[in-house]
Amino acid sequence: MSVSDLVCVVDDDAQYLELLTDLLCGQGLHVQPFQQAQQFLDADLTECAVVILDLFMPDIDGVDVLRILAARKFKGAVILTSGQDQSVLRTAFELAKAQHLTILHSFTKPIPLLELANLIAQTLADSFQAQQQSQDKNWTPSVSQLRDAIREQQLVLHYQPKIDVATGKTSGFEALVRWQHPEYGLVPPFKFIRLAEQFGLMAELTSSVLVMAMQQLATWNQQGLPTRIAVNISAENLTDLEFPQKLLQLLQQYKIEPSQLLLEITETAVMNEVVLSLDILIRLRMNGIGLSIDDFGTGYSSLAQLHRIPFSELKIDRRFVHAMGTEAESLAIVETCVFLGHRLGMKVVAEGVETASILRKLQEINCDQAQGFYWSKAMAEPHATAWLLKSFQ
Ligand code: C2E
Ligand code: MG
Ligand code: MG
Repeated sequence: MSVSDLVCVVDDDAQYLELLTDLLCGQGLHVQPFQQAQQFLDADLTECAVVILDLFMPDIDGVDVLRILAARKFKGAVILTSGQDQSVLRTAFELAKAQHLTILHSFTKPIPLLELANLIAQTLADSFQAQQQSQDKNWTPSVSQLRDAIREQQLVLHYQPKIDVATGKTSGFEALVRWQHPEYGLVPPFKFIRLAEQFGLMAELTSSVLVMAMQQLATWNQQGLPTRIAVNISAENLTDLEFPQKLLQLLQQYKIEPSQLLLEITETAVMNEVVLSLDILIRLRMNGIGLSIDDFGTGYSSLAQLHRIPFSELKIDRRFVHAMGTEAESLAIVETCVFLGHRLGMKVVAEGVETASILRKLQEINCDQAQGFYWSKAMAEPHATAWLLKSFQ
């Protein structure tokens, strides 16, 4: 549905009708004047975004018009005008609100024209934006759009700091991919990662993400800000036996230490292709690349398998971290994960920390690192660089 910008003016005073119509047309608005209320009611009102309605008209009075509009569930906004005194306008205003009409304002004549024009322009702009946002929300990309986006380098990385729980220092970042869409703005990963996985685009997506992460690490290294970046990878990456080799080549090309890179993998991804992924993961680990098991506790895994895979980090899913402040069971799960991770020689990270009280609990149970909105959301590159600079001071 396109957004309507039609403004209807309903006024029995011919002079006023002409004045308002000229004024609004002059603003580039699409205006339709009605000298009789009945004509307005007989017109197609679905396209009307704003109506400027005179309360006192000879054929039907404005209060009746409001009642009829309410009964028809009129979606536009209403501006009331009247040559009579303020109290009538106020009563009509309250009445219309009670009938769930969108009433913007009421003006006694003479109407302050500039104020009226601004009010209408703002209302139309707001409704256009609201409409746009709801269209954006409903938009789902097609495979070919996603494929083009990867090739045209529309994917960008945002960086969320990982914080050392004991010292509060930044220990690195997690790179989280977004799609910078020319029309829809920044598209979050839940809109397209599943699609990429379903249609075999994950190898291409991951390799583009890895190159961006390495370029960023190289830039930060050159600026004297060495840090670590964690990149999320999918099951499909663990079926490509050449993946470790390609990755090592990239590290060499960008002069990145393998220990500056960490790969985050979900349990389910690993368990899907246990044998093949074991081969790949062991080779990555042997070359000094960090491996993290992501969203721990939500996928399906067998503890026996887990211990065969040389993970260097265990990341507790944010669902448990969130709930550990209020649910004894979640606290028990988080404590057990910290214990298990440490016994298996891993660093333990809590994701989704949003409050100081959760942070205090994590300190008490010796969790190593944490991530979450308590410190920062994932940031675009300039903000991440500023964050990093501060952490080096
Ligand atoms: P994830 O790897 O578990 O990433 C953490 C998600 O939690 C991120 O969402 C992050 O913004 C969000 N988050 C961080 N702190 C908080 C917090 O305190 N509260 C809450 N409520 N949420 C928090 P995001 O960026 O939307 O990413 C969602 C998922 O998309 C990621 O989950 C990851 O599985 C996937 N993803 C993102 N980038 C990539 C990528 O480059 N490759 C692959 N394969 N997957 C990716
Ligand atoms: Mg992750
Ligand atoms: Mg996670």
